[in-house]
Amino acid sequence: MDSHVHVFPPDIAGDRDAYLGRDARFDALYRSPQARMATAEEVVRAMDENGVALSVVLGFAFKDRGLCREVNDYVLEAVASAPARLAGMAAVSPGAPGALAELERCLDAGLRGCGELTFDPAESGAYADLAPLAECLRERGLPLMVHASEPLGHDYPGKGRFTPRACLDLAQAHPGLSIVFSHLGGGLFVYELMPEVRRALADVYYDTAAVAYLYDPAVYEVVAAAAGAGKLIFGSDYPLLPPDRCLVGIERLTAGDREAVQSGNARKVFKL
Ligand SMILES: [Zn+2]
Repeated sequence: MDSHVHVFPPDIAGDRDAYLGRDARFDALYRSPQARMATAEEVVRAMDENGVALSVVLGFAFKDRGLCREVNDYVLEAVASAPARLAGMAAVSPGAPGALAELERCLDAGLRGCGELTFDPAESGAYADLAPLAECLRERGLPLMVHASEPLGHDYPGKGRFTPRACLDLAQAHPGLSIVFSHLGGGLFVYELMPEVRRALADVYYDTAAVAYLYDPAVYEVVAAAAGAGKLIFGSDYPLLPPDRCLVGIERLTAGDREAVQSGNARKVFKL
């Protein structure tokens, strides 16, 4: 299973320039023609080539509610056309009017959570806006997926200020909510060795998206030792990286842990 795959409707993937000026974050991530975009059809083809049985696909949480809705409609359609191969997450912009209604619409239609959302902890109001969405997800037992970044190391497009400190604050503000912090939570897993932090992170998981781009393959053994393999979820960040790139290092885990990381943990968290 690959639990971190980005999809775009053909209209957006085929004409990205038309959308660049409409959303600052989309602009920052996709201005470069080298930043790859994939439609659901392309995702399924790549899954076949890479031996991936099931993918969790993510739309893009545009600030504009109309664009979020367009992306969510596409994700819903993609999941409906390949229910055995694709599960989907809702993309909503927490501060936008109607965000809660849009999330409810998507979850009622079968999407498995909300994300990947990106926050800037310096932006006032981000957490207040998130509260009703987090409560809705908690009640339904579905996860929130949040983009996390390392507080140090090399720079790259999308590296933000949502680092382990902000991740911990978010988890503490929403006890009982399942949260998947992408990109290994920016290194948060290390602090699970502190008993009080581990307690606060009881419902937190880490995905492996783009890890090959960030860490030495030994990192998976370190996550398993610090946080436990039960908290690690395989995701590639396709089409940024092909699925096999982030598998390097997983072979060092035990067979049982590999099964959990590549399927069991995600099935539990996304209720699949
Ligand atoms: Zn991300």
